[in-house]
Amino acid sequence: MHGKLILVVGPTGSGKGTLEAHLHEVRPDIYWSISCTTRTPRPGEKDGDRYFFIPKEEFERLEKAGEFLEWAQYGGNFYGTLKSQVFPMLAQGKTVMREVEVQGARQIMQAVPKEQCKIIFIDAGPWEELERRVLARASMGEVELLSRRKRYEDEISFMPQADVVVKNYDGGLSQAKKDFVAAVEKLQQSV
Ligand code: 5GP
Repeated sequence: MHGKLILVVGPTGSGKGTLEAHLHEVRPDIYWSISCTTRTPRPGEKDGDRYFFIPKEEFERLEKAGEFLEWAQYGGNFYGTLKSQVFPMLAQGKTVMREVEVQGARQIMQAVPKEQCKIIFIDAGPWEELERRVLARASMGEVELLSRRKRYEDEISFMPQADVVVKNYDGGLSQAKKDFVAAVEKLQQSV
């Protein structure tokens, strides 16, 4: 029996992290793959929790050794999903989930059969709404805002490839949490 790999994709600020934290609470049985990254931990982030924080040389060594199912560069840092975090769990019939950006999602879709690999896209509405949220969290220069917008457009162009789209518009978080759990449970059952 093979488990499902469910990828969560969506623009920065779409609330992926909040929905992930909610799912941890209500479905602790679901395994979240721990990725490698070369970025520095943010305050409160522990090594081995959501990420293994590793130096660039170590990342390159793992990449050359063929240890990654996918990897991508994002915002000047490297991110990669380890095969060892995914395949043993799938072989045991477990559901594995991971948040990835679009380049990684595309690579995984090439490598894992469609029946086993499912995508949930978090749609946080139009750019203007996201821009408001991002600016409410931190001030930002024109250049950074423009590069965020480009990334947003890249991520949103991936939406038609998702198996389920969960809407997380302003003020709709409690409904989005319910829809997210329902989406995961539907995809676990799907063939
Ligand atoms: P953050 O640095 O904010 O945790 O993540 C930045 C971006 O990297 C997010 O879009 C997130 O979905 C993506 N990401 C996190 N882990 C991985 C991974 O293992 N592979 C890829 N390709 N993207 C990832």
